[in-house]
Amino acid sequence: MLNKKIKKLLIGTNNKGKLKEIRGLLPKRIKTLSVSAFKLKSPKENGKTFIENSLIKSKYFSKKTNLFCLADDSGLEIDLLDGKPGIFSARWGGRKSDFNKAIKKVYRELNKKEKLWRQKKITARFVCALSICFLDKKIGVAKGIVEGIISEVPKGKNGFGYDPIFIPNKKNKTFGEMKPSEKYKIDHRFKAFLKIKKFL
Ligand code: IMP
Repeated sequence: MLNKKIKKLLIGTNNKGKLKEIRGLLPKRIKTLSVSAFKLKSPKENGKTFIENSLIKSKYFSKKTNLFCLADDSGLEIDLLDGKPGIFSARWGGRKSDFNKAIKKVYRELNKKEKLWRQKKITARFVCALSICFLDKKIGVAKGIVEGIISEVPKGKNGFGYDPIFIPNKKNKTFGEMKPSEKYKIDHRFKAFLKIKKFL
């Protein structure tokens, strides 16, 4: 097989939170490189699904560097908002990916949709699509999901993105209140990783 035992792998993300988490999941034998070391900007994500956007990134970065690339596309789906922000999760933070701005927008949209939303359980999920490509060739794709609810107020300073407003099922604290080691064991990225690791 072309990819048996990948030794060097480019992590196709400019998001520091994701980079840290993905590095922690990979076996030690794999040398990882980041796209920032190559001063590469992310491509336009014009896919319609997490999987499509993940593949856009892994192919693009692999072709730019000639390396195997593992890329992630992920986001938060909120049922009361018909699945939004979904693939637009990063874009809700504006040009500078300001996560506080994105969180404010979630609360604004929930208030618009239903004034008394805090009296209900607002079900939501984090979705992660991981893909590995070498140039234009797709080596593997996997999706991971963690179900939960939206917190009435943001809580915790750990993690990144929407972590302070997401409470995973069977827990009573947000991802933002958890230690990274606790979050990484149950989250969407970890679940996707368990499925894709056979391709490494
Ligand atoms: P993209 O995959 O780079 O388009 O961005 C995904 C966006 O979804 C991130 O910028 C975060 O806002 C959000 N997101 C994805 N995974 C997580 C997570 O584990 N915690 C918090 N927010 C996340």
